[in-house]
Order: sequence, then structure tokens, then C-alpha cells
Amino acid sequence: MQIKIQRDLCVGTTACVDQAPDTYELGSDSIVKIKDGFDLTKASEEQKLKLIEGAKSCPVKALVIIDDEGKQVWPEPDKKAA
Ligand code: SF4
Repeated sequence: MQIKIQRDLCVGTTACVDQAPDTYELGSDSIVKIKDGFDLTKASEEQKLKLIEGAKSCPVKALVIIDDEGKQVWPEPDKKAA
């Protein structure tokens, strides 16, 4: 799993941080970033679920989740384009 942060979209609402405080935090520029010291390769299943919930809570869909096969799972890809 990978997380891509689209920094140009983030408006600093902290909705994702509220959902997954182990994973996300706001940087000094008020844009979200992966928390210092968080290692996604060592994340528990619970932490992964929370970071996905955090991505889903984002009002501007600034957080993109990619699965281990490289497929985007959130935001859901446009089904018409498939
Ligand atoms: S929920 Fe979205 S807009 Fe709010 S801090 Fe997180 S990434 Fe940024």
C-alpha cells in the first residue's frame, strides 16, 4: 500500500489527522504530511484501515491510496474510464 498526498489540494482541515493521528499530521505549512517516524511498511492492519478512513474523510480527496498491486483504491477510479 502507498499513500500519495496531493499537497496542492490539501486545505488543512485535519479531518484525516482526526481519523488517523498515528499516520497523518499537519506540517508547519498547515499542509498534511505523513507523521515523522511513521513507517507504512510496518503499519498494522488497524493503522492501515485508519489511514484509509482518513483518506475517505478528506473533503477535497487530497489523499490517494494505492494497493500493493499498484491499483488506486481511493478515490475510486472513474468507472467510465475503465
Ligand atoms: S482531510 Fe484532506 S484537506 Fe484536511 S488535512 Fe487531511 S488531506 Fe488536508
